Amino acid sequence: MTQAMDRRSFLGLGALGALAAGAGLAGCAPQPSGAGAAPEALGETGEAAPAGIARKEGSETKECDVAIVGAGAAGLMAALNLARGGKKVVVIEAGPSAAISNFSMCGGPTACETKLQAQENATVTLDQIFTYMNDFSRGSVNSALLRNCLAHTGEAIDTMLDLGIGMELIPDTYGVGFRGRHFFMEDGEGRTTPIVADIEAHGGEFLYSTRGEKIIMEDGVAKGVQTDAGIDVMAPVVVVCTGGFGGNEEMQLEKLNTTVFPLGSTLSDGTGINMVLDAGGAWDRNFAVLGNECGAVSKATTSPFTEDWHNTNEHLGYWLFGGLYTDPVGERFISEGKIAQFPLAVGGEALLRAGKAYVIMDNDYYQAVQNEGIYAYLGEPEAWIAGPEAGYYNVTPENGEAHLQEAIEQGWAVKADSIAEIAAAFDLPALEKTVESYNRFCEAGVDEEYGKEPHFLKAVKTAPFYAFEYVPSCWGTNGGVKVDSHLRAVDKENKAIPGLYVAGVDQGSVYSVPYYTNEGSSVGLALGSGAYVAAEILGA
Ligand SMILES: Cc1cc2nc3c(=O)[nH]c(=O)nc-3n(C[C@H](O)[C@H](O)[C@H](O)COP(=O)(O)OP(=O)(O)OC[C@H]3O[C@@H](n4cnc5c(N)ncnc54)[C@H](O)[C@@H]3O)c2cc1C
Repeated sequence: MTQAMDRRSFLGLGALGALAAGAGLAGCAPQPSGAGAAPEALGETGEAAPAGIARKEGSETKECDVAIVGAGAAGLMAALNLARGGKKVVVIEAGPSAAISNFSMCGGPTACETKLQAQENATVTLDQIFTYMNDFSRGSVNSALLRNCLAHTGEAIDTMLDLGIGMELIPDTYGVGFRGRHFFMEDGEGRTTPIVADIEAHGGEFLYSTRGEKIIMEDGVAKGVQTDAGIDVMAPVVVVCTGGFGGNEEMQLEKLNTTVFPLGSTLSDGTGINMVLDAGGAWDRNFAVLGNECGAVSKATTSPFTEDWHNTNEHLGYWLFGGLYTDPVGERFISEGKIAQFPLAVGGEALLRAGKAYVIMDNDYYQAVQNEGIYAYLGEPEAWIAGPEAGYYNVTPENGEAHLQEAIEQGWAVKADSIAEIAAAFDLPALEKTVESYNRFCEAGVDEEYGKEPHFLKAVKTAPFYAFEYVPSCWGTNGGVKVDSHLRAVDKENKAIPGLYVAGVDQGSVYSVPYYTNEGSSVGLALGSGAYVAAEILGA
């Protein structure tokens, strides 16, 4: 396997045929849609519910045992297990098929006690993965729920394998100490079609191009889902799993304090979260993103990634390399080495916090990333465990100049003869002082500010100098409404709302801030939550 392929496996870029579709959907600015907008903006007719989403009675009614909103990781897994368990399910999906969700584009889930792990003698036990993730969360998540969801990840993976959905177990790229991540070998259609077919074979029904827009409540009890297609799907149990709020700029501003460029589907626009709030639910507290480990995006980004990273502007990759990074004032704000080691978790959080960040490099560094590559330039430090993967993001000399010119023209790169010029161009008043002190640390081999590992310390001293401005982007959001240890939506008094469950990334009780460092956690927990919610409903 080539290094590029390794990298693609690591990132899930094999799914980027589908991503092209997702990114195309995304466009530059998240598109607010009716149902994802503020509840009070919804519905011109009918009586407003207490929290704001208008009740518009459908012209048609469907009856089922369980209504599921969203056919992504959690929704499909829940529907599959419920249908196999004898429940009549109706799945309401905003997209034209199930091969539209972030699940259909993603790299792959973390899981424990799977067949693939057993085959490779690399079993990750429930205790092992739970302890790692629970410790990482520092008690900020619902530990019981975390364990319950993780306990169902193995079953979810094995079910997909049994359906012929190909996956492989990948190496421990980030050095977390175990091999949890499974990588999909199938594209979006290849991984969703067998699941959908099995659900339908067990009597399940899909309503595509149909948005859930309100939970129908009677006396505080969920009774069904109002859709924008004029169909009321009536069921004693409703599961909401619409995939978070990557497509809702307003919600991003409220919860993340910045907008975030969505790299996934903007159909996931916070609708499900708003529906649960409208039904009496409450927010949980943790809000994070799956940062973009392919690097950052620029303010000019429209569709940043294609199946081949090198077709995009290769200057977006420097956020991965652990050089000198500053905030919008021109000050360092983190050990850049931590971002290089955990770009998805720490990198995502750091860029969210800064809102905008700058990578500063001198000519030696710039030439190195275009020739020998950053990992070689830094002396192939073994301690940088994710380092060999960064090779995939080396800038190819044939693209270098054209991509640089494009970035300069788009306003997110500057090339200058002095640091003062860079500081003036991007209005970074503290930059000259920052570079001076950083260079002192590099010469001494000790980062007195943030303790960055010495192998990342390269002085910024040879003209010309370069600076690149990056803004946050994400593969998805983590964080949403509060649920109890059994995935039941709870109200502001922590009382379960009868009949209403929330799974996947719409629920905010199982995801940490920052995003967990063990890759595949977002979709792993989404799949696990789907399997778990089905078990709860079947057992109830
Ligand atoms: C390119 C890419 C790569 C990724 N790689 C990884 C990875 O390697 N590891 C990892 O852990 N995570 C990864 N993710 C994130 C992962 O895909 C998500 O965390 C996961 O899919 C969330 O599952 P979910 O069921 O909550 O939502 P989703 O899988 O997003 O499904 C939600 C579904 O709900 C639908 N929907 C939205 N609103 C409505 C509505 N009102 N009514 C009806 N339907 C609605 C959506 O169309 C969608 O089909 C990646 C994401 C992308 C985009």
